[in-house]
Amino acid sequence: MTTDALSSAIPVPDELANNVFITSLNTVYNWSRRNSVWPMVFGLACCAIEMICTAASRYDLARFGMEVFRATPRQSDLMIVSGTVTKKMVPTIVRLYNQMPEPRYVLSMGACASGGGPFKEGYNVVDGIDKFIPVDVYVPGCPPTPQALINGLIALQEKIDHQSILTVPWYRKDTPGEVVPIPVLGPDLVDLRQLDKIRTEAEKVQPEPEIEAAAAA
Ligand code: SF4
Repeated sequence: MTTDALSSAIPVPDELANNVFITSLNTVYNWSRRNSVWPMVFGLACCAIEMICTAASRYDLARFGMEVFRATPRQSDLMIVSGTVTKKMVPTIVRLYNQMPEPRYVLSMGACASGGGPFKEGYNVVDGIDKFIPVDVYVPGCPPTPQALINGLIALQEKIDHQSILTVPWYRKDTPGEVVPIPVLGPDLVDLRQLDKIRTEAEKVQPEPEIEAAAAA
């Protein structure tokens, strides 16, 4: 029903006409959440400097209710992955993500976090944090400016606006909060969700004849 149709269907006394507004539980629920998104204090490389600028007085994140950066994942709603994601850091990032309570969101800030950036071919860098944890908003740039980050945060607020209290996964018994297996860092980074695929590929590799002969001798 449109707003006009709704207002004509519900009679409002003249003395209350300018004092009553009609809303929905969803709107109130999302309005309170969108204006109190607390990001985690967490930075990885140069993009983090821009994130810090965004939190300073000039850009005034308090306008969006996001000025309360928390130093613990237990009190954070938003992880801003700001910087180059090295293989060494991935287990820590995934652990922090698992420790955040629902509802939780992830913003990938900059070319490095979204796809490896200028270090994409590096032996020590992963080509996107979304290979390991779900990302809600991507902010392009190297580095993105504070204005670009703010634009990404507004995009996140718009995403929150469209969520429904009836379908969000954190209130549903059949969709318990996702726990991402923490990748193992050895000679290389191993995503435990890919173990079957890794085994299958390893079995396809034939041993070299010289090595086979040396092993038999
Ligand atoms: S995207 Fe650019 S500015 Fe951001 S961490 Fe990578 S190299 Fe640094």
